[in-house]
Parts: sequence; structure tokens; C-alpha cells
Amino acid sequence: ENLLARRMYDLGTETAFEVLAKAKALEAQGKDIIHLEIGEPDFDTPRNIIDAAIKALNSGYTHYTPAPGLMEVRQAIAEYATRQKGVPYTAEEVVVTPGGKPIMFFSILALVDPGDEVIYPNPGFPIYESVIKFVGGKPVPIPIREENDFRLDVEELARLITPRTKMIIINSPANPTGGVLTREDVEHIADLVRGKNIIVLSDEIYDRIVYDGAQPVSIASLPGMKDWTIILDGFSKTYAMTGWRLGYGLMHKELAARIAQLMVNSNSCTAAFVQIAGIEALTGPQDAACAMVAEFKRRRDIIVEGLNSIPGITCKKPVGSFYVFPNVKSFGRPSKEIADFLLEEAGVAVLGGTAFGEYGEGYLRLSYANSVENIQKALNRMEDALRKLR
Ligand code: PLP
Repeated sequence: ENLLARRMYDLGTETAFEVLAKAKALEAQGKDIIHLEIGEPDFDTPRNIIDAAIKALNSGYTHYTPAPGLMEVRQAIAEYATRQKGVPYTAEEVVVTPGGKPIMFFSILALVDPGDEVIYPNPGFPIYESVIKFVGGKPVPIPIREENDFRLDVEELARLITPRTKMIIINSPANPTGGVLTREDVEHIADLVRGKNIIVLSDEIYDRIVYDGAQPVSIASLPGMKDWTIILDGFSKTYAMTGWRLGYGLMHKELAARIAQLMVNSNSCTAAFVQIAGIEALTGPQDAACAMVAEFKRRRDIIVEGLNSIPGITCKKPVGSFYVFPNVKSFGRPSKEIADFLLEEAGVAVLGGTAFGEYGEGYLRLSYANSVENIQKALNRMEDALRKLR
């Protein structure tokens, strides 16, 4: 242990993976566990994408590719992003990576010096804070509050910006709350950062998973913002491709070249046949992706209604992602304790809100990327178990 480099003590983790390991251990002992802790679609990858990967393997896409990705893949992503996000992108502004997560890691590594301040959503995806600390940056949390429909408060953001602010991370639709920023929110954020040498890392990985007509606005589409924004996106959630490891960043082409250099120094490139399958995902039929969203919506309605009918729990209906973030403050216990109790007592694996930062206290995160049958079973078990906590 004392052989570790000092920086390793500043590196955090993602609790979801720990809870998953604990749940699996209980399963190995014969316990029946319902998994609502994992952030991945339960659907299989659409057939046309799998077939495209097989075809690519058979056609020799088994070699290294250029570090930022195959040109035809970067081109397809640029065209897709131009359509989907309403911002004109070219292939040289695209870096293909094994999942979207490396874009988080690489952009913070490439841009944040020790002492630089990075504002990030809290509760939010835990890797933001972890990597900011890892590079010696100063993490500045912006609280994400239920009262504000789990959107960041722009006035609060204004107060947190200082001359040392180097980067602001936004995530809409959000993990773990499902909050979606409105166009006005995004415009206000852009007004706050314009002309200040602040980079916005916009994590848009859930931008296709929205309900009730919600329309996420990419901050890159606002006047003057494109060159100051890094968009993180990928295939994991939209196309149920978590295990493929395929994502990308959209950014200024000079920064893209630097991120590609980090790829050279780490992964070399993203798997060639996986990249080719990505073209099919973006340009092939979208009905499977749309069907998943329709099914998520059905489950969201069921889980929100079910949670609200459990005494002591209140749950807002989120308009994006596949998570709910119910309020469990009435139990008067730390949310981590409630999550542990639910796993052991009810066999329902969920995450305590503090797995996403200190401002997540008083909430649980449940992923409804699970069957309606399992969701209903989990709700019943939770109701029974939570009676003992009241
Ligand atoms: N960003 C957010 C907010 C996420 O929830 C996730 C996955 O859980 C990612 C990024 C990274 O996804 P991937 O690396 O699989 O593309």
C-alpha cells in the first residue's frame, strides 16, 4: 500500500460498482437480489449494430486505428452531432474513445492545473470530483436541489465563479437525479462564462433519453460557445452498448489533437470493429433506441407512483435519464444506511444519495433500467422493509 504514488490517495471511485459487488456476493450466498443500483440499460444491443460489428470483424477491422478514431467514424459522429445537437461539427473536432468516461478523464487532465477550480454538480456523477482531485484541481460543488427540479441554480453558479475557475461541468439530463436544464438555464450559464476563459464540459450522454417532450439544449449551440465547450457523449446508454466501450468528445480541433495525444499515451485507439459498429448505430434504423425510451418512460411512471405510495418517501417525476432520486429524509437516517438496510433486509440494491456527493444526503438513487416485474417486486419489498425503519 505505501508503494502507491501520492496522487492515488486523491482518486475516488464509483460506489455503484462496490454495491454491485456486494449484491453479487449476497447472490452467491443464495439471496435473491433485485438490481436497481446499476446505471445501464437492461436491453440487448440492437441486432443491426451487432451484425455490423461482426461484419467489420470479418472484413479485417482488427488492427490499430488512428488515435482519435477512424476518419469515417469521426465523420459519421460529426454529422450526427450536427443534426442532434444543432451545432455544426467537423470530423477533426471529434475524438473517439473507449466509452464517454475517458473524455471526462482526459479533458480534466489536459486542462486543469493544480489549484484551478472546477465547478461540478453535486449530487452528480462521482467521477467528476474524483478526477478533479486526482489532478490537484480544487473541486467546487454546485448543489443540485430538489426544490429547483434538480436543475442547478444559476444565481448560485454565478457566486461560485472566481478568477481561478477553469472549468464548469454540467450534465443534462443528469445522473443521478434525472434533472434536465431548460433553455433559459443553459443560456444563463453561457452568459456567465462567455469571455472568461472558462471551459464547459457538457456531459450529454443521456440527451436522447428524455420524456414528456423535454428537449435538452446543448450549450455548444449557443452563440460563441462552441469553441469553449467539450461535449461528452457516447453509445452506452442510447444504444444499450455499455460493454462495447464506445464514446466520444466534441471539441475545438486543437484540443482534440491534444486529447488524441492522451489516447496515444494510454489506449492507442478505440477497438476498430467497435468503431465501425458505431456508424451503424448512428446511421441505421433508430426504432430500437426509440422503443427503449418508450419502455423507460413506462417504467418511470410505475416506479415514481410506487415510491410515492410508500409511507415516508416522496419522489419527483424526472424528465430525463433512467434514474429516480426519491427523498427519504423523513426516516431521519443517513441515506447510505437506508441503502445498506434495503440491500440486506429487502434484497433490493439501490445507492445512497451521498454516493454522488454530500448534497445527495437524504435521497436514494434507483435505476429503473430493469423489468416492470422486478420494479414492482422491489417496490413491494421496500415498502415492507421500510416499515421497520419508521
Ligand atoms: N456520464 C454520466 C453522467 C454517466 O452516468 C456515465 C455512465 O454511467 C458516463 C458518463 C460514462 O459512460 P460510458 O463511459 O459508458 O460512455
